[in-house]
Amino acid sequence: MANKEEILECSFCARKKSETNLLIAGLDAHICDRCIEQAHGIVLEEVLSGEAETKGLSAELVLRIPKEIKAFLDEYVIGQEQTKKVMSVAVYNHYKRLLQVPTEDEEDIELEKSNIIMVGETGTGKTLVVKTIARMLNVPFAIVDATVLTEAGYVGEDVETILTRLLQAADYDVKKAEKGIVFIDEIDKIARKSANPSITRDVSGEGVQQALLKLLEGTVVNVPPKGGRKHPDQKFTQVNTQNILFIAGGAFDGIERIIGQRLNMQAVGYSASLSDDKVDTENLLQYVIPKDIRDFGLIPEIVGRLPVLTYMYPLDAKTLRSILTEPKNSLIKQYTKLFAMDGVTLKVDEKALQFMVEKALEYKLGARGLRSLCEAILTDAMYELPGTDVAELKVTRKYAEDKLTQKKMKKLKAVS
Ligand code: ADP
Repeated sequence: MANKEEILECSFCARKKSETNLLIAGLDAHICDRCIEQAHGIVLEEVLSGEAETKGLSAELVLRIPKEIKAFLDEYVIGQEQTKKVMSVAVYNHYKRLLQVPTEDEEDIELEKSNIIMVGETGTGKTLVVKTIARMLNVPFAIVDATVLTEAGYVGEDVETILTRLLQAADYDVKKAEKGIVFIDEIDKIARKSANPSITRDVSGEGVQQALLKLLEGTVVNVPPKGGRKHPDQKFTQVNTQNILFIAGGAFDGIERIIGQRLNMQAVGYSASLSDDKVDTENLLQYVIPKDIRDFGLIPEIVGRLPVLTYMYPLDAKTLRSILTEPKNSLIKQYTKLFAMDGVTLKVDEKALQFMVEKALEYKLGARGLRSLCEAILTDAMYELPGTDVAELKVTRKYAEDKLTQKKMKKLKAVS
């Protein structure tokens, strides 16, 4: 009788099992490794072809519904529910707009771009939210600091170099870069000093805002691929910014006062109705509206081009505590992994965690300070333990206190 294995063959190419590396069984059929590879190639080709794109499939864009985007954000970002929700919807709408199929219909409704502005203290997770979204969508992503930007002709970086960064992130694939995300940090630092337009030009603020406006509006920009003015003879690459999602962020120090004044005025104006609504004076940021951003010193055109406005809550003790252990790549999980690589089990007890939170709050180090605190507490052990047969490190409050001497705290404060 023939060996049963030999009778098995690929239902696609009829190769016998013995002639394949792998034969996978289905309900009534089999497929071999070579046919799987070929089929995979066909699928890829289909996805890459324009035809597939019009069906909403894209090799580079992974469209997810807002709830999926939010769920992904939840894994990495603690709290900030409002922002996560607003961002999920804005990003979803943006990419829906990218995937819409143009029709001949003149009546067709044009979906406008929804650039975003986030207001919140530093270290509250603005960058983290944007980075996480970019990673999930698998699009090129660049972070730029608005403070280094200057008007063309002044010392500093031209606004176009924002796109240089994006091009670099996209491996110089212009098409990819044109669907990317740019995070402009510290946008509040280019606010003009007073809300009234000045007659003399304000180099640091208004001029840069005007230059930035062009990018936000959607235009074709000549981008120096290597950036800067050090490479004067480089050829420009043309990048269309129409479909690039711009997200701006800033601490807007002092904006609470502007919000407070506005709320007070409203309360007087509409007396009863508004004053009945309890205003949470502890966190005025939640009432921010575009007018406040304008009053802070961003020109109205820029504010208009950043239609989605959201805010970040300051991090309280409970949130800081969660940040230490809950995110998918939380600090404690990272250190646990580092120690595990040396065969050491790291155990940080609850009181030690609380201690770190207390210190981060006391010295106003914020979430960013948590890393420095962990580092200061664990460095000695990370130096001493490798190469020994110690199998466990227990970090108690006492241990943490001993490692964090006053001197170290002073240093941490100076760093953050
Ligand atoms: P921002 O851009 O607002 O200044 P970041 O996003 O750079 O703040 O935050 C700094 C770091 O603090 C992040 O890398 C992250 O480790 C931590 N962090 C801040 N806020 C959160 C949060 N809400 N959830 C989880 N981690 C956070």
